[in-house]
Amino acid sequence: MIRVITLDEFDPLLLKEFTKNLFTAFGVGSEITDSVTTPHGQQEPYDAQKLLESLPKVTAFRDDKVLFLTSRKLLPRKLTSGEAPTYGLSNYATGRSIVTSAHIKSVNENVALLSRFAMQEIGHAYGLHHCLDARCAMYPQWVPHYLEGEASLCTYCRESSERKIRDLKS
Ligand SMILES: [Zn+2]
Ligand SMILES: [Zn+2]
Repeated sequence: MIRVITLDEFDPLLLKEFTKNLFTAFGVGSEITDSVTTPHGQQEPYDAQKLLESLPKVTAFRDDKVLFLTSRKLLPRKLTSGEAPTYGLSNYATGRSIVTSAHIKSVNENVALLSRFAMQEIGHAYGLHHCLDARCAMYPQWVPHYLEGEASLCTYCRESSERKIRDLKS
């Protein structure tokens, strides 16, 4: 199961569409299971790594993935070519990810893009790597037209995620 935990308020309809998109992409149940507050002592833009580490532990089964959803800005990534916005971060070892809607204008009308961001982080949490298919959610986020892709996985990524999910269950 993909456990989605909100750090900020989101429109219930958005959340419904968001979890449905995740279910469709991974074939795994996806639910909003809790809401928590952003830890004290950290400020916007948040260091995604630090924020993810300081968020509360969530009771989850071994094959569960935990996704925190925020509307606050995360610190941009430093690349050799300059800076790139951080849409999210995933920690494979803990199975925990965070995703932000801060870079999406009118997110209620663009749940697909937020879902695409989340799919990449959940994909990484399952052990998927970046993909060369520009439509796929696993396409590298630092390529500008990443934003034009779809809220779905390509056949290759879908099959490898199914394999990883099966392995976790056995
Ligand atoms: Zn990535
Ligand atoms: Zn792919």
